Amino acid sequence: MRKAGRTIRTMLGLTVASTLLAMAMPALAAEVTVLSAARIHTMDAAQPQAEAMAFDADGRILALGERETLLANYPDAQSLDVGDATVVPGLIDAHGHVAGLGLTQMRADLVGATSKDDVLARLRAFAADLPEGAWLLGRGWDQNDWPERTFPTAADLDVAFPDRPVWLTRVDGHAGWANTAAMDAVDQDTRARLTQGDWQPDGGRIVRDAQGRATGIFVDGAMALLDSAMPEMDAATAQRTLALGMQMAVEHGLTGVHDAGVSLQQLRGYQALADRGEMPLRVYAMADGDSAALAWLCENGVYAHPGGRLQMRAVKLYIDGALGSRGAAMTEDYSDDAGNRGLLLMSPEQMVDAAARAKDCGVQVATHAIGDRGNKVVLDVYEQVLGDDRTSDHRWRIEHAQILAEADIPRFAQLGVIASMQPTHATSDMPWAADRVGSERIQWAYAWRKLRDAGGRLALGSDFPVESVDPRLGLYAAATRTDAQGMPAGGWMPQEKLTSWEALRGFTSDAAYAGFAEDSVGSLAVGKRADFVLLEQDPLEVDPSQLDELDVLATYVDGEAVYRRP
Ligand SMILES: [Zn+2]
Repeated sequence: MRKAGRTIRTMLGLTVASTLLAMAMPALAAEVTVLSAARIHTMDAAQPQAEAMAFDADGRILALGERETLLANYPDAQSLDVGDATVVPGLIDAHGHVAGLGLTQMRADLVGATSKDDVLARLRAFAADLPEGAWLLGRGWDQNDWPERTFPTAADLDVAFPDRPVWLTRVDGHAGWANTAAMDAVDQDTRARLTQGDWQPDGGRIVRDAQGRATGIFVDGAMALLDSAMPEMDAATAQRTLALGMQMAVEHGLTGVHDAGVSLQQLRGYQALADRGEMPLRVYAMADGDSAALAWLCENGVYAHPGGRLQMRAVKLYIDGALGSRGAAMTEDYSDDAGNRGLLLMSPEQMVDAAARAKDCGVQVATHAIGDRGNKVVLDVYEQVLGDDRTSDHRWRIEHAQILAEADIPRFAQLGVIASMQPTHATSDMPWAADRVGSERIQWAYAWRKLRDAGGRLALGSDFPVESVDPRLGLYAAATRTDAQGMPAGGWMPQEKLTSWEALRGFTSDAAYAGFAEDSVGSLAVGKRADFVLLEQDPLEVDPSQLDELDVLATYVDGEAVYRRP
């Protein structure tokens, strides 16, 4: 819309008589905006604070400094005084799943359900609006929140849903819970394998009872058996999930998201939205690690939409699963499950192949790694594949980097590998993480401070919809290491806390760096994009325990409000 306005103004300037030109003057005058606030935290070391910022109609920052000076230098500018509000660079979530977030709007929300009965009550309420026979989808259950703390079974769901297929993803996305009708919907060969025997798919696990029957729980690679039995989503619905997810993101102060696993079909959806000018924020897409996505990137080169809101220059790989479902690959047994060391979803050799191919194509590699073995394998593979190029500007990343071996912590800085971490994972996992790995290994888990002290760079995110999309919760978790109630007092392993400034940096400039975008976003400086958030409070002034109560007044991308608090 702004583009059309500019064209008209140019035409007027060239062709029209003086009266019309005079009418056009206010529009010309509004080309520059001078924003003034109680303070602007730029996250730019050269000029950390300012009270005003001028940007043009293209959303490019022209100047930062004192309000009077800027208004004097841009006498025709539109003045936007936001009073006591604080301005910070637009927040960037370095690891989220936009379609998944949008889908939460179309799935039963089971996050925080305190029992199986609670799950069933929520499912019944949600199913009331569903057409007969349609799959009932849900996500967010966590058996650790229930009294019995054991995996549920299909029979638990069959009581309420004997006919309608029900398929519910666990909170970490690494296990699913199906009812019998859903298991009946898989193809015949698979169905036969579910009723008896001990067959297991690659990189996954079907939980079976003593008779060899699938119980209804499918871990990691086994989830695909149910996913593929579901009817496929049409293109319009797929675009709607992206649009819903992006809208939720800007409402929470995000101006950028690194979408950690985008299929080619999803990229087409994003492109369609970008072409129509319907992307309210910037998406840095990581190609879903199948060979098709990497092949497409290699064939076409790194991708950037001309509008500046969509890029794909990374590939997402997975080395292991998650800690909650004991799928994370550990060097030693789980402390609460003797004999189980989790799963590698890719062999080191397969990962070397994929990473080498990415390197040849100039593609950034971002690998999901949770367990200490998973992280070690990834660091080993990166070291081997990068070779002498490890000091180059590769910016390869490890997503999550949750449980590390002590010896691997300095390797992040040595190899130039970015630790892409999610503060809310630590505070969600803290009640049971030490059960999984014991009191010794937990010292090297969620070790933000140790990584920073060793020279590592942290890009912060949320892993939404696994956690909330709300970055205030991430800032809060990073700076307090407590739950929403402030427990445990003083924080869980408080030596790993970040300062509020470090946390903000992780959600701004370091997240931008992790997406090769620090020249345009992540900090506010002349020549960069006017992506910023107006907050009622100053996040660097309030006590860290109040970071989750910051009020987002507005979100701006390219100098334009994409969200205003109603
Ligand atoms: Zn993720």
